[in-house]
Amino acid sequence: MGQCVRLTEETKKIIGIQYSKGEAMSTLLFWATGNRQQATGNRQQATGNRQQATGNRQQATGNRQQAWLQKHRLTRWLAKLFVALSLVVSGEALAEVETVPPVQKWAVANGVNSLWNFNFYQLSKSEACLFFYNTWVVNAGYPPHTYIGDNGTYCRWTNFFDHLGIAAQQGIYWSKYDCPDPNVNPDVPYTYRPATNTCERELKYKLTLTPDSATIEPGQSYEFTATVTTLDDKQPGISVPVSVKAEVEANSGGHDHGEKVAKRDKGKVSPANGSNSFQINFTSTQVSGIHTITATCDQCVNKTAVAKVNVMVASLETIPSSAFYAFIGGEEDKPHHDNHYLTPAAAERLLVMAINYRSQQRFKVLDWNTNIRVTPSVLHVNDASLMWGGRFDIKANWTNPHITHMRGIEVDIRANDEVGAIDARNFKAFEKMLDDVVGGKTGRAKYLLECTADKPGSLLKHERKAENLCISRLTLSPDTNRHYHIRLIGAK
Ligand SMILES: [Zn+2]
Ligand SMILES: [Zn+2]
Repeated sequence: MGQCVRLTEETKKIIGIQYSKGEAMSTLLFWATGNRQQATGNRQQATGNRQQATGNRQQATGNRQQAWLQKHRLTRWLAKLFVALSLVVSGEALAEVETVPPVQKWAVANGVNSLWNFNFYQLSKSEACLFFYNTWVVNAGYPPHTYIGDNGTYCRWTNFFDHLGIAAQQGIYWSKYDCPDPNVNPDVPYTYRPATNTCERELKYKLTLTPDSATIEPGQSYEFTATVTTLDDKQPGISVPVSVKAEVEANSGGHDHGEKVAKRDKGKVSPANGSNSFQINFTSTQVSGIHTITATCDQCVNKTAVAKVNVMVASLETIPSSAFYAFIGGEEDKPHHDNHYLTPAAAERLLVMAINYRSQQRFKVLDWNTNIRVTPSVLHVNDASLMWGGRFDIKANWTNPHITHMRGIEVDIRANDEVGAIDARNFKAFEKMLDDVVGGKTGRAKYLLECTADKPGSLLKHERKAENLCISRLTLSPDTNRHYHIRLIGAK
């Protein structure tokens, strides 16, 4: 008696018990005792002495159960002492295992009808006791009983033999171990390990990239941080690999090149691989646009973390419309249809120039037909900067024929033989006016980049429209692109 009885699979099926391998020996002991109780119970009415004998056996079993509990309380205490992290090799990647103590759940069985309630586990003994009493003793419609409660070893209530002086009837506890529902990442359940009486699951990680967005100027760099943590924000105990790449959105930054997939330089990330927590340096190109930094971690629940980088010259505004100038270029179907962006200070200087050009007497030119000096056409303003500034690749090939035009302080004014161009007779006076508005004769070469020297050895010469003028064209070239390129701010 009191042996550890092993149930056959067949028996388990018959009585409908879902044994987990971790079910306590106490339950098996109880089952053995319970069978005997059942036999004994049938004889109960015949003799009280035998019941007494059974009671003694129960007591013996109870003592063993008590000892078992003592042992396992120690186990649980040890398990709680640390969340053990052990490394296992799963495939190629190392993984960590998270270990937590199991939860012990209790049920109560009647000595006579021990089949009744094995699947109604409660979190505590007293809950199990009350549940059993209410469900199976009261509802079963037996003659009146009185609930006594849980005395730590038995669940007790009076029975209808009380008037015969027979002891209170009692149910016996039954327990099993269950794994708790995980608080963190509840989608991945714990698995019970009977050998260690613990619950385990593979530890998962999450990846973050901080900050998640940044704005930098074209050509500048920015530091991001990739961090892998456990889902409860602890450092991984192993090296969790992370790879990093940079991408750029097609048609972003004012470059509507009609691409489906961005073909431009995506910028540089360094390093492209790391682990756990590390700095990532992103260096943009001179071309403005929306870049993304994507960090990838196969062992992380979120797999990727993305940071957005707006590469742009901030604070550019579209040039306000005015009766003193007209806009050209930037047609809707062009790759750079928003070409008229400047800083507010630069736009203000452009307006002053335009007003001067229309209002000052010196710019009036003789109309050959009427022989009257007339006010010239308004300035025709071509490319300034793109909406976000940066390299203005007028040929939509990402290269840089517009050497500047990057920061919203430079603008081209038509000065060829087309409608609205500055009349060649006004070039000299126009440059003087630029000196006044933009600042100082010495700055002329700075704000008139087309005032270039002839290339040594080249047959192509810059033909000046007039001596000392910076506007010119190359020998034999058509004059269609002739323009003033004016630096509105910062000319020296
Ligand atoms: Zn472009
Ligand atoms: Zn220009």
